[in-house]
Amino acid sequence: MESSSGTPATRATLLSFDRAALAARFVELGLKPFHAKIARAAVLEKGITDYAAMTSLPAAARELLSRELPILSSTEIGRRVAADRTTKLLLAFPDEARRSATVETVHIPARDTTSGKGATLCVSSQIGCPVACPFCASGRAGLVRNLEMHEILEQYVRGRALGELSRSVVMGIGEPLLNFANLSRALDVVHDEMAIGSRKVTVSTVGFPDRLRRIAPEKPRFQLAISLHTPDQEQRDELVPAMKGVAIEELLAAADDWFEKTGREVTYEYVLLAGENDSAGHAERLAQRLARRRCTVNLIPFNPVDDSGFGRPTEFAVDRFHQRLIERGIVATVRWSRGVESDAACGQLRVRSARA
Ligand code: SAH
Repeated sequence: MESSSGTPATRATLLSFDRAALAARFVELGLKPFHAKIARAAVLEKGITDYAAMTSLPAAARELLSRELPILSSTEIGRRVAADRTTKLLLAFPDEARRSATVETVHIPARDTTSGKGATLCVSSQIGCPVACPFCASGRAGLVRNLEMHEILEQYVRGRALGELSRSVVMGIGEPLLNFANLSRALDVVHDEMAIGSRKVTVSTVGFPDRLRRIAPEKPRFQLAISLHTPDQEQRDELVPAMKGVAIEELLAAADDWFEKTGREVTYEYVLLAGENDSAGHAERLAQRLARRRCTVNLIPFNPVDDSGFGRPTEFAVDRFHQRLIERGIVATVRWSRGVESDAACGQLRVRSARA
């Protein structure tokens, strides 16, 4: 499933080149290498997506570039802005096979703009998702294709255009570890040229143990979050179908190795589904599984997804589950989603637009 050769399909854009290759492309166009530097910095550091606004380039260069080298390849086909200013973009990418190639990117401004600076950007790693968790909208129609490196990167640029970015989570549509080569190249640029520190980027995965073990020695520049969702093997096989046959203990062992190799603690995500995985017994068994491990559990109250058959637990049930973990010595936090009123559940805008 992983491929950087996958379905390239799309025309080269400014973001599909690395620094050196972009300079070479500019020279080919009759421009100077420092013009490439100016354009690249304008796009990555300021989120400028129109050459016309790059006034430090000569007018003739701006015109030439507008004709010859697109900055972005996607089209914004939808935008929802919630009351708390969380902005969800629906982006359509070109696709050779003319499939519906859309993803969502969400810009979440810091809650308290006086103390907190910037925003968190939630990006997608694939178009669709092959994992098919029954509570999640993203996998409804399966995987369409992997995102190219520059398609991941341009979500950051579009996010930057909405305001300064201080953090990013790869928690949008798709399973990041199944498109890791492209993601990792995009995250290098985010780190090196957009100045988002590696502790400010979180990648969320269902957790393929063999892939985690392969990646850990490379000391990747992000924090790891693993979607666990239940302490019970049988239930995990149902909630995360792609992980069927992977023992929870094996996954936890791979995560322990990750911590040892990278020096970074792992977060376990746990979507709370009313009446499914939010009982006292679940909290007890989860605490047993994670006992003596240095990690954090991030509880995510389910965001209702149309016709999923799952329900959102009450605030009381969420607090009770949270308290039970804390009483058993587990570090746990609750992530109440922002912008629920604008379809916070990832993949919902996309599913609805495909249906319309
Ligand atoms: N494929 C990756 C990234 C997915 S999104 C993964 O599974 O980790 C990040 C988190 O949101 C995952 O833990 C996912 O299970 C969770 N999620 C998906 N749909 C949700 C919903 N409707 N409500 C709350 N969390 C959801």
